[in-house]
Amino acid sequence: MSVHILDALAREGFEQVAALHDRSSGLRAFLAIHDACRLPAFGGVRRWSYLDEEQALRDCLRLARSMTYKCLMAGLDAGGGKIVVLDTPDLDLESSYGFLGEHVEKLQGRFYAGPDVGTGPRELAWMCARSRYVAAPGEQGPGELPEATSAGVVAGIAAALRHLDGEEGWPRRTVLVQGLGGVGSRLARALRELGARVLAVESDAARADQVAGELDVELVDESSALEIDCDVFAPCALGGILHDLSVKRLRCRVVAGAANNVLASSTHGRRLRELGILYVPDFVINAGALIRGATYYALGTRVPVEEIAARIGRTTAEVLRKADERGLAPFDAAVQEAENRLAQRRSRAGGGDRAGARARGGDGRGDPT
Ligand code: NAD
Repeated sequence: MSVHILDALAREGFEQVAALHDRSSGLRAFLAIHDACRLPAFGGVRRWSYLDEEQALRDCLRLARSMTYKCLMAGLDAGGGKIVVLDTPDLDLESSYGFLGEHVEKLQGRFYAGPDVGTGPRELAWMCARSRYVAAPGEQGPGELPEATSAGVVAGIAAALRHLDGEEGWPRRTVLVQGLGGVGSRLARALRELGARVLAVESDAARADQVAGELDVELVDESSALEIDCDVFAPCALGGILHDLSVKRLRCRVVAGAANNVLASSTHGRRLRELGILYVPDFVINAGALIRGATYYALGTRVPVEEIAARIGRTTAEVLRKADERGLAPFDAAVQEAENRLAQRRSRAGGGDRAGARARGGDGRGDPT
């Protein structure tokens, strides 16, 4: 395996990376806690059929670091973490998630787990049975997290449209939503309610038909989806979808969605700018669930979705404005801002020279491995 875990830990400021194995359920997973400066770390549990464990570990590290940026940009006293589970057809899900719950409980509040791809209310309930540090689904916990994420994404898209045209103009907008899961389906509904035309692509055919039947959205073919003329492309499935080949196919003016790590690398953020496409950084626009969850566990209150939307709308507008002022791609501007805030936090936490060296060692934009 060519991933150098200890190098990545030191260079990028990870505090902990654990490989988890449970013989009875067959679970294989990674848990990463990025630079939390002694604050609790928050992150979802992703279950996915990775090609191999290197791919899973890379995803875990990138996602955990992105969660730290998300906390910093949302003004939260929290750090980033992540669990990724290597999914296989014979995995005993209930007992795997029970094992993960036990592991999270052992961390005693150092890491709080929430939903992500492959982990919804059912899986969270299995974890909650073993741990106090898992976002309980339903009325017991912080409330509907995908709803909070979707509200933030709508506000971020609105801010991007205002940035370009001075107004949202929903009735004349077409938005292409990729992935009609927990967040994407809610986003599609909200956009329809605002009067926008919604096109959607969803790889699970049964789910696509079900959601399209409930909402007035037009399904489009997966193979040609990126080439469709639209105002906004909203990725709400997996990350890494904008790379050398795919950016050239885009026919939208804005890319803004819930998916984490949409860009294969920061280079693609710059490429989008050259192509005249406004990219709203993922870790700015998709912080709704984090704001809801982290505040709930810190203060015991549920931030209303309207407030979440307003906060994300303001932050998005500010990032886009500063990016223009500095002549930077919005992703680079947001990373710069997050790194500045992280350096300040480290110095407040007494991180000293070693933390400073860590910050200087990586620009925070490349692949952490
Ligand atoms: P989900 O698993 O409920 O939904 C993802 C959907 O995308 C699924 O229906 C899946 O079939 C579909 N999909 C996968 N690959 C696809 C492809 N290539 N084309 C079209 N459809 C595809 O996940 P979710 O909770 O809705 O999260 C969506 C994204 O948003 C993820 O990247 C997640 O990390 C991110 N995110 C989610 C939250 C949250 O509150 N759930 C918060 C922040 C970020």
